[in-house]
Amino acid sequence: MNDTIAAVSSAGGPIGLIRVSGERAIEAVSAVFQPKNGKKLTDAPSQKLVYGTLRDKDGKVIDCCYAVVLRAPLTYTGEDMAELQCHGSTAVLQLGLDALFCQGVRQAEAGEFTRRAFLNGKVGLSEAEAVHDLITARTAEAAQNAAAQVMGAVGSPVQEMRDDLIGMVAHFHAVVDFPDEDIDPVLFEDAAALLHRTTSRLYAMAESYERGRILREGVPCVILGRPNAGKSTLLNALLGRERAIVTDIPGTTRDLIEENVKVGGVLLRVTDTAGLRDTTDPIEQAGIDRAMAEASASALILAMFDGSQPLGDEDMLVLARSAGHRAIAVINKDDLPRGIDEKLLKKHFLHIVPLSAKTGAGLDKLLELIPKMVGLGDGSIDGALITNARQAAALARAAERCEAALYAAQSGMTPDAVVMDAEGAIAALGEITGETVTEAVVSRIFSDFCVGK
Ligand code: GDP
Repeated sequence: MNDTIAAVSSAGGPIGLIRVSGERAIEAVSAVFQPKNGKKLTDAPSQKLVYGTLRDKDGKVIDCCYAVVLRAPLTYTGEDMAELQCHGSTAVLQLGLDALFCQGVRQAEAGEFTRRAFLNGKVGLSEAEAVHDLITARTAEAAQNAAAQVMGAVGSPVQEMRDDLIGMVAHFHAVVDFPDEDIDPVLFEDAAALLHRTTSRLYAMAESYERGRILREGVPCVILGRPNAGKSTLLNALLGRERAIVTDIPGTTRDLIEENVKVGGVLLRVTDTAGLRDTTDPIEQAGIDRAMAEASASALILAMFDGSQPLGDEDMLVLARSAGHRAIAVINKDDLPRGIDEKLLKKHFLHIVPLSAKTGAGLDKLLELIPKMVGLGDGSIDGALITNARQAAALARAAERCEAALYAAQSGMTPDAVVMDAEGAIAALGEITGETVTEAVVSRIFSDFCVGK
């Protein structure tokens, strides 16, 4: 495990970062980098940038750049590290890496730096997982949530609950080990209070995953409506630019068009679809079938109606498809005289927004409503949302075991019954902090990372 690894850790741009970690990191970088001050890099103080020249494996100067040495244990991985801040040319970075490989350093695998940080106890598993969320965050809100989790917004409360449960179990064990002594009823009372509090907290955390996933991955959202209702115009208005083909010939959007739009901190993965209508054209019908399937899989349906026209048979397809889904009825073409019967729509939809996709009037109401509809409309998030399926599943399991232990404590069962379920909860929480996680799970988690992190 203690071999020395290196990777390019930057993603394009004028400056490129080569990161090296392991026992030989400082020595290897020192062999390819000569400080301008004439001293050896190995003698440089930790965490201080040193200017100098980088040489390729044949000793030719390939860059004038900075190097920094970072001595264990105060480093990201907990090992000795060194970094080269080069010019960002892929040629320079590759030659720099090759020079290091000639010094006995090997290419780092995906997520290997963070994996080492975890294995060396520098970060908990939930903090390490949040690093991945932070790298891939697509909205400011998702980044804020991830940054708070890198700082322990999930790991700290989970660790605290786990420690409390361990304390409680230890107390029960002590009592069980001395069976001649009567068990103090206060012990059961205190245990029940702790288990009650912990169960509620755990369920709340597990349930935040639905919103957390939306925060991280966005909301799959589909625009449904009959041909010419204005679906493509709405998508363009949301995007603020032309993307879908807008014409007044019904049936132009035959296939699905997907775009990401940020709406009040929520990433909407919007699909514009073929207009729903009866058709004999097999290609158009295939598009309509896909629109129907897409609607079923979407978290939000924007059901669009042409407000200048009475509701027709084709609109009934939209009503039927929206039933039972989280849906907003959009009455479009509000700039034209009203022809639609809004009362009928009110029977089908809780949320109705009249707007003009063409002029943009009323669009702000839709943009306000969408984050609220998906549970992300109330300001600050601060790391409170679980964004990770693995963590959510472990939290739910911990909550169930805690609840079972609570039941055992309240119904006067033997201490063994309380202990058994509480230990189950402790193990499930350990999967989040990393204390009870298997090697296979750790490998899978870090293989999702990019190389260089
Ligand atoms: P789709 O078939 O549902 O995607 O409809 P389009 O977005 O292609 O629009 C069909 C026609 O309706 C085009 O001529 C648009 O310019 C027009 N249209 C779309 N939205 C509005 C609107 O809000 N007001 C008016 N007056 N016309 C609109």
